[in-house]
Formats: sequence, C-alpha cells, structure tokens
Amino acid sequence: MKLFDFQDQVVVITGASRGIGFTLARSFSTLGAKVVLLGRTASTIQQAANDIQSETANETLGLVCDVTDEQQIETMAEEVMKRFGKIDVLVNNAGATVRKTLDHLEQEEWEDIMKTNVTSVFLTTKVVARKMKEARYGRIINIASMSSEITLSFSTAYGPSKAAVVHFTKQTASELAPYNITVNAVSPGFVKTSLNAKALEDDQFRRPIENRNPMRRIGTIDEVVTPVVFFAAKGSSYVTGQNLLVDGGTTSFGF
Ligand code: NAP
Repeated sequence: MKLFDFQDQVVVITGASRGIGFTLARSFSTLGAKVVLLGRTASTIQQAANDIQSETANETLGLVCDVTDEQQIETMAEEVMKRFGKIDVLVNNAGATVRKTLDHLEQEEWEDIMKTNVTSVFLTTKVVARKMKEARYGRIINIASMSSEITLSFSTAYGPSKAAVVHFTKQTASELAPYNITVNAVSPGFVKTSLNAKALEDDQFRRPIENRNPMRRIGTIDEVVTPVVFFAAKGSSYVTGQNLLVDGGTTSFGF
C-alpha cells in the first residue's frame, strides 16, 4: 500500500494562485490527484492550473471562485461535480491579513479579515461537505496559523480569526465524523509568501521572530506541504479535530 497515493482523487484548494495554496496544488498533482485551484482572478488562477498540468501531466482545473460568496462556491462545486463526479479533499487555504493594533484597526478591516479567513471556511465547508456526505468520504484541512495559539504584534484581527478557524475545525470534525469525513487544521508559523514578504524583509520585524524560534529561522512553503498531505491521506482516517502546529517549535519554546 502506498501511504500517500492520491491517484484518481479530486482535491480542491482555495487560494491556490500563489503562495502556500499553489505549492499544495502542485504537490497533490505530483502525487497523482486531479487538482482544482480556486482564486478570484481569472488570468492568474488559469495560469497556475496550466503550469501545474504541464509539469505533472495530471488533469488540473483553475476556477474563479471568491470563497466569501456562497453562490460562487455553489457554482464551483457543481462545476467540479460535473467534471470529476466527486470531491475527496478540500483544503481551505485562502486567507488575508492586516497588520494593525487595537487602536488603529477599523471595524471594516476587522470584518474583512473575518470574512476572508473565517466566513470563507464556513461557507466552503458547508457546500463541499454536502457532496462528501453523499459519498460518505472526505478529508477537510483548514490552514490556520500559529497565531491561533499565541498573540503576535499587529495581529489584532488575524489572530482571533485563526483561533475561530481552529474551533470551527473541532466543531465540524464532530459533526462530520459519522460520515467518514475528517476535519483537521494545519497552523504554520512564519513562511515567506506574498502575504508577508514585505514585512519579513524588515530586519526589525524578522529578527525577533527568528530569535523566538528554537530553529532560529523562518519556515519554507515546502515545510507546510507534508503535514497537509498527511491529513489528506486515506490512512489518516482516525485523526480528526486536530490542529497541527508547523512552526519550528515556536509555540513550545520557553526562552
Ligand atoms: P498569499 O501568498 O497572500 O496567497 C493567498 C491566496 O488566497 C491567493 O491565491 C489569493 O488569490 C487567495 N485569496 C484571497 N482571498 C480570497 C478569496 N476571497 N477567495 C478566493 N481566494 C482568495 O498567502 P499565503 O501566505 O500563501 O497564505 C495561505 C494561507 O496560509 C492563509 O490562510 C494564511 O493566513 C495562512 N498562513 C500563512 C502564513 C505565512 O507566513 N505565509 C503563516 C500562517 C498561516 P487571489 O488574490 O487571486 O484571489
């Protein structure tokens, strides 16, 4: 038995045009999956899907889908069902951040972060879980963050949004367990992507992060992939409701 074989499995990844989502899509495709990449911009999501398909020769689909919009998610799910007939794995990866403290954070910014990071996970899970329930099989992985566990400077909206994702993971894991659907979260520490590239270039921002990490370094996108693949695998059938921190030991480091 191959432990991580995704041949003939259909994997849907939100926010896959770049960053962690794109690397996840490429990795699942390399492992044999038919991958559906979702993003808000037609040109970039199509290009990302084409690049992966040329590299792996496995069927890949890029769809425009704003995961804060239930109607767009319904349309996307119907399109995937028409094309592939099922959804085995959903990775709720799309997310955003705003680096502000309490005094400077506006209500509109708070609501935007909650919508992109939390409401999107609720809506996408709700729609896709219906398909998974019919098939009596599914793996859902939510990309949270180590800021779900610890406070970070300027993370007044982002941290609480990711804590909500982790609790939603536990809640839905319990609700969906009878249908052979597992729901788990992966919580990365700092990984350089377009989300934070500018901030991480600033020594004053990056150095304290490295010093607070027992490995003394920022993580790489590739280091987030294997934990996600683990939760997505058929063999992880007795693991649900968990939040796996992929942070180089930061959250368990004392001093
Ligand atoms: P990124 O490079 O900024 O990419 C974000 C992706 O999400 C893009 O593909 C973007 O595509 C998409 N997106 C944003 N809003 C969307 C929406 N409403 N509907 C559909 N797609 C949407 O971010 P990343 O660093 O790879 O982060 C991915 C996930 O990991 C996020 O949930 C983030 O919070 C989490 N995370 C990241 C880090 C880190 O250090 N990078 C650490 C912990 C957790 P379009 O703009 O084209 O739609």
